Amino acid sequence: MTNDIKINRVERSKIDQLDFDNIPLGRAFTDHMFICDYEDGEWKNARIEPMGMIPMHPAAMSLHYGQAIFEGLKATLNKEGEPLLFRPEQNARRLNFSARRMGMPEVPEELVLEALDILIDMESQWIPREEGSALYIRPYMFADEGFIGMRAATSYKFMIICSPAGPFFSKPIKLYAETEFIRAAVGGTGEAKAAGNYAAAILPTEKAKRKGYDQVLWLDAKEFKYVQEVGTMNIFFKINGKFITPALDGAILEGITRSSVITLLKDKGYEVEERRINIEDIIASAKDGSLEEAFGTGTAVAIAMIEEIGYKDERIKISDKHEVGQWVMDTLNGIKSQKIEDPYGWMRPVGGKLKV
Ligand SMILES: *Cc1c(COP(=O)(O)O)cnc(C)c1O
Repeated sequence: MTNDIKINRVERSKIDQLDFDNIPLGRAFTDHMFICDYEDGEWKNARIEPMGMIPMHPAAMSLHYGQAIFEGLKATLNKEGEPLLFRPEQNARRLNFSARRMGMPEVPEELVLEALDILIDMESQWIPREEGSALYIRPYMFADEGFIGMRAATSYKFMIICSPAGPFFSKPIKLYAETEFIRAAVGGTGEAKAAGNYAAAILPTEKAKRKGYDQVLWLDAKEFKYVQEVGTMNIFFKINGKFITPALDGAILEGITRSSVITLLKDKGYEVEERRINIEDIIASAKDGSLEEAFGTGTAVAIAMIEEIGYKDERIKISDKHEVGQWVMDTLNGIKSQKIEDPYGWMRPVGGKLKV
């Protein structure tokens, strides 16, 4: 199926304004964006336009009632300089999962993938070459109907914008286990990549930062006892040689990095358990030395090593060995640049230039 995507190119690229050795994180954007409108029950007018402002009705429903969802994925270059996407079909699938939860229309997966192919092919010059660097791609959807009243909107926009990202030096992070605020409850919207989830996390995160932490470690909404996840990352612990990560319980976001890391660890011969994890047990294992490693996983940083967890009145040092975490990070980055073979078929060539 082709979706007849119209293309309106910029007259002159602004790529020469970007210093690739010093990319401002989240602030530099490529020349073009993808836009598609949902009206009268269908997606129409798929187009690529110069990156720029979009007009909005002041009553646009996403601004008032929060029907807004997003995705995040990365494009990298292989040795031949050809662009590749990491598991984009998983992002298309999750976008629609989020859309269903938020009462929004689904976008045909082949439209998402075709839009990504065409846009990333056009913007491939913007993909940084250095290992660990990538072009961050942000697909998102929001209600743009101008209407005051509580119901599902009838018009939406699905858009894709791209922002080059330098190699992410994730120094080990410190987490604050939050026992006052929650991120998500079972039955709520935590499983969806819904914009409002992040709004609710901002105040607790700012408070944690003021106490000297980098991110919040979210606990369950009922008992403040079971570990959920971190900021925009899922979390893994290595205890007595075995990995554990919280089971998807309906409040945790199912990370694509999470599922990839589970596969990598299992294929490396590690046991990986998905189960409920009591924060008290983690603290106890950190103290008796059986907690060997902890790291977060997510598209933005790939792997972030965890060096400290604050819980109640204590600051608990987590091991500063990150042996397996580093191996996972190098393996993921190696697969993304195709320096390491990709036995899983995770990398999808862009623009049909490559055949896998
Ligand atoms: C996006 C996100 C993740 C990580 O998902 P990836 O697909 O690995 O990028 C984890 N937790 C939350 C809350 C997220 O928004």
